[in-house]
Amino acid sequence: MSKQLAGKTAIITGGASGLGRATVERFIEEGAQVVVADVDKERGEELAEKLGNSARFKSTDVSDAEQIQELVDFAVSEFDGLDIMFNNAGISQAMCSRFIDDDLKDFRKVVDVNLFGVMAGCQRAARYMKDHGGGSIINNASVAGHLAGFGMMSYRSIKAAVLHFTKCIAMDFAEYGIRVNSISPGNIQTEMSAFPVPGMSPEQIEKIKEAVTPVRMAGQPLKRHGKPQDIANAALFLASDMSAQITGLEITVDGGATAGDPVNH
Ligand code: NAD
Repeated sequence: MSKQLAGKTAIITGGASGLGRATVERFIEEGAQVVVADVDKERGEELAEKLGNSARFKSTDVSDAEQIQELVDFAVSEFDGLDIMFNNAGISQAMCSRFIDDDLKDFRKVVDVNLFGVMAGCQRAARYMKDHGGGSIINNASVAGHLAGFGMMSYRSIKAAVLHFTKCIAMDFAEYGIRVNSISPGNIQTEMSAFPVPGMSPEQIEKIKEAVTPVRMAGQPLKRHGKPQDIANAALFLASDMSAQITGLEITVDGGATAGDPVNH
């Protein structure tokens, strides 16, 4: 069977670890050439080197539009085009923080990376794709964009904005042949979902995980831990021509956790 992304070039932001990294590897398996963009230079370079000729690393902070422009230019010059943009980079916020105590500087940082970074990524990729046969843009959101809850106020509200922005921009870019869709992961095991509270020891993190995992599983009908590869597969579908008639869609990858009544399933 022919590869789904043969001859295509993709940028994956936040590609050095977690969901981005799994997607980099999946896209390359399917024949794509991939630019890994990340603030983590060491990991990004190590990954690109491991993957060989089909991968490049570009050090990029997505909260800076000029750096995103340089990233797009780099992909075009290295691989002669750009077909797929996965705006995946994101940062989290302490799970247990209360908004009343939050430092608004931290809130602003989440806005800059998780929302502005996505918006700038969409704009700069589209400026190239518009005159070069269109393309596919995918934004990584979260089920937290739908669920109000205790803590992580900036993260939750900004992911909701990413979801709505994706639909708006899908309408706007349709005439250029650019499709724009989002993915909303549920809880997937990565460094981000491992409760990155500054100063916490690995033992403390393990303890919290042990306590929280049964609660998360209880509310998840499939009773299966989400894996980074589950997100990579959803991204592959949205990136490839298998989804040629789909734009403005959100794919939720959460084992059914947000599909219905969390108690009576
Ligand atoms: P992760 O922390 O494992 O990876 C995030 C990557 O983004 C890291 O390599 C980091 O260096 C990079 N990054 C951070 N700030 C950046 C910046 N300013 N510019 C460029 N790169 C930057 O996290 P993950 O779990 O893989 O999350 C990836 C995306 O998926 C995020 O947008 C996150 O909000 C979303 N998400 C994750 C989960 C989950 O359970 N893991 C759930 C819902 C949504």
